[in-house]
Amino acid sequence: MQSLKYLGGYPPDVQARVRELIAQDRLDALLAAKYADAHTVRNDGQLYTYVQALKDRHMRKAAPLGKVIYDGKLQVMKHALGTHTTISRVHGGKLKASREIRIASVFRDAPAAFLRMIVVHELAHMKEAEHDKAFYQLCTHMEPDYHQLEFDLRLYLTHLDLHPPGSATEARRR
Ligand SMILES: [Zn+2]
Repeated sequence: MQSLKYLGGYPPDVQARVRELIAQDRLDALLAAKYADAHTVRNDGQLYTYVQALKDRHMRKAAPLGKVIYDGKLQVMKHALGTHTTISRVHGGKLKASREIRIASVFRDAPAAFLRMIVVHELAHMKEAEHDKAFYQLCTHMEPDYHQLEFDLRLYLTHLDLHPPGSATEARRR
């Protein structure tokens, strides 16, 4: 049986449904239909402006932003979404200390809703280091649909792993 590394925290019946979608090759169409909107946040400067606007709206009193960048070396699971283990605590603590927000570069080409979700996640870490109740309350305050978006993002990452975008792009360039 195929392991679903992005969905390990979800119940077996949910994972079974996802496996079914993969087997039927329906994951892509499902995500494309639901998340048709792209975003125009192409570079680090635009990303800073985008994060600052969300922060101004929801977390005005939090410490000022430091650096905000797209990071090509960041692994989404290890650093961005955490795994609800010790790793995530270290990750949250680091971000809090440096007030630096790094967004994995996979989000540059991701649907707009997923960029918003991950920025909300990282902004929430400015106040809450752990992935605990207070953290997720802050996330849903900024983005009411947060939990659905995080789940769908995990589907999206699963899809990308199965169909790496690089190969298709290279084929088209030739
Ligand atoms: Zn986190």
